[in-house]
This record gives sequence, C-alpha cells and structure tokens, in this order.
Amino acid sequence: MRTPERKSILVTGGAGFLGSFLCDRLLGDGHEVLCADNFFTGTKENVAHLLGHPHFELLRHDVTFPLFVEVDEIYNLACPASPVHYQYDPVQTTKTSVHGAINMLGLAKRLRCRILQASTSEVYGDPEVHPQREDYWGRVNPIGVRSCYDEGKRCAETLFFDYHRQHRLRIKVARIFNTYGPRMHPNDGRVVSNFIVQALQGKPITVFGTGTQTRSFCYVDDLIDGLCRLMDTGDEVTGPVNLGNPVEVTVRDLAERVLALTGSRSPLVFKPLPSDDPVQRCPDIDYARTQLAWEPRTALDDGLKATIAHFDALLRRPGAPAN
Ligand code: NAD
Ligand code: UDP
Repeated sequence: MRTPERKSILVTGGAGFLGSFLCDRLLGDGHEVLCADNFFTGTKENVAHLLGHPHFELLRHDVTFPLFVEVDEIYNLACPASPVHYQYDPVQTTKTSVHGAINMLGLAKRLRCRILQASTSEVYGDPEVHPQREDYWGRVNPIGVRSCYDEGKRCAETLFFDYHRQHRLRIKVARIFNTYGPRMHPNDGRVVSNFIVQALQGKPITVFGTGTQTRSFCYVDDLIDGLCRLMDTGDEVTGPVNLGNPVEVTVRDLAERVLALTGSRSPLVFKPLPSDDPVQRCPDIDYARTQLAWEPRTALDDGLKATIAHFDALLRRPGAPAN
C-alpha cells in the first residue's frame, strides 16, 4: 500500500467536493499537495482549513491551459460533476474533459509520473446491462444534453489509454458512481444535496419523473479511499475500475429516507424527468474488491446523517444559501 516517502502530488479540481477530501487525505498521509482549480464549482472555502498547512499550495488554474509544475503524481479531478453545472456551459465542459486530459497527460508524460483520471459511471450512459461491469461499453446518446459530460469523459478515457499504449504512461482510470457527503455544493442540483436542503428548509422535495429510477450512493470517505488504493496499485493495474456503492435505491426511496432522517414534513412533488436521465445505475465492484481489496463501508443512512449534519450547520449560518 502507500509507501512511507513523501511525494509531491497535484490534485486538479482540488477545491471541489471530492478534490478537497482527497487533499485532506493526501496531506494526512504525509504528502505535499498542489491543488489546482479554476473555482468554477469549487470554492476556496472547501480548502480554507488547509491554507496554513506547510505542505499545501493552492493554485488558480484552468486545466484547459497547459500547466508546468514538478510533481510525482497527478489526480485529475477537474470537471463540473452535477448535470446543472456541466450543462451550464457544455462546450467548456467538453474542453475541460478533453483539453484538460491532454494537458495533464502531457504533464505526466514529461514528468514520467503516474496519473489518475476521475472518470464516471456516465460512460455507461443509460445502460442495458445491470449491474454495470467495466467490460460493458455503454449506451450513450452522443448528441443529447448530457453528452458534453458523458462523451467528454469517454474521450478522456480514450486519451488515457492511448497515452498508455503509445507513450507507456502509467495510468489509472476510476469510474466513479454517484458519491455524496459534506462539502457538496448546496445549490449544485444533485439529488442528495437537493433533497437534504429542501427537507431542512421545509420546502417540497423535487422528485424527477416517478422516482422509480435507481442510483447507488457512495459516501465520500469510501470513495477517496478507493482512489488512493487505485493510485497505489502496481503499474499493471490501469483500470478502468468501478468505484461506487453497490447498494441500489430508487430516487423515491432516497427522498423518504431523507425525510425520515431529518424529521421533515416536506411534501414530495413530481417534476418532469430530464432528458437522457439513466433509468438504472449500480456498479459491479468485483474488480475493485479483487484488485484494490476495496469496498464501501459506510451504510447509506450513516452517510446521510453526516451529510445532513453538515448542511444543517451550513444553513444555520448568517447569509446561508437558499435552495
Ligand atoms: P465538483 O464540481 O465539486 O468539483 C470539480 C472541481 O473541478 C471544482 O472545484 C471545479 O471548480 C473544478 N474545475 C472545473 N472545471 C475546471 C477547469 N477547467 N480547470 C480547473 N478546475 C476546474 O465535483 P466533484 O463531485 O468533486 O467531482 C470531481 C470529479 O469526480 C469530476 O471529474 C467528476 O466528473 C468526477 N465524478 C464525480 C462523481 C460524484 O458523484 N461526485 C461521480 C462521477 C465522477
Ligand atoms: N433527481 C431528482 N430530484 C432532484 C435532483 C435529481 O429526482 O432534485 C434525480 C435525477 O433525475 C436522477 C437522480 O436523481 O434520476 C440522480 O441525479 P443527480 O443529478 O444527482 O445525478 P446523475 O443523474 O448524474 O446520476
């Protein structure tokens, strides 16, 4: 597992939800962290507690432009992840995934260092195979509203594997399934943050469609552990590897759990299902279990309780965001 020597590690998108927890973890493991972010969806507040840390550096940088730094490892997380945010400027989303991958792979090639890509279950699109295994090629609409993200991430995977084959780069590709936890942006439109904020504010819970579509929700601590384990595997392990919680729930079930855990009396309101919204999503994590000795440990209710506590404190602050 993790070697004792201190490494210098670049985390792109490090001021975002997952990135900030990854910075915490890497610093906790004794490494130096260079966090690069353009603050599109991430915030300085997510890493404010790290600013005085002697081994932490924050750099405002957009990964669609080349970056010249000296590091030993790269985690490439820069990309908006919520449908609301990645559809806000879809051309920029594709650029972030594709140009961002080219720039970070170019950096890794010059440094001959390992590079990990935060890919996504969205590469499977609206799947007809269930649960999704890594050898399933997916069913993605190439021209729909989610395509900027889905196809951008698919192209980034292609680039990672071409750099591996053509330039013998040491790559790791993680396909991340829906992950939730504290520090999600309260207005980012993802289902867990939406439902919790709505429940805490006594506002209607917006269930899209009939709420029978499924997702599998992984708590952030488990996911970060999976990313670090993947980075620490031998060079023969490239992935792609699914990282997610294989416990599948319907969106309606999630709404009811959030209501029960918050004690809220918010009503459910049913809104139109966004186009290309996947009907079913659940990872097969056998490969991660075998290669990384990894599986999620946090039960959904426990993770939701921690996330609710975070949003509850956030919403009580003066000037708190309104949903
Ligand atoms: P997030 O939006 O909180 O974080 C993304 C970060 O990337 C933000 O800090 C944002 O400012 C930054 N960013 C965006 N465009 C950039 C650019 N051009 N240059 C530099 N920085 C840029 O989202 P997250 O949930 O933390 O997701 C992190 C990564 O994990 C993303 O690549 C996402 O696609 C992937 N992922 C996340 C999930 C999930 O459920 N959270 C699921 C699948 C994949
Ligand atoms: N969703 C919902 N209400 C919301 C936000 C999302 O019912 O307020 C649904 C959405 O249609 C999807 C699921 O919850 O079926 C997960 O949505 P999210 O945006 O979190 O992630 P993704 O669709 O990318 O998996």
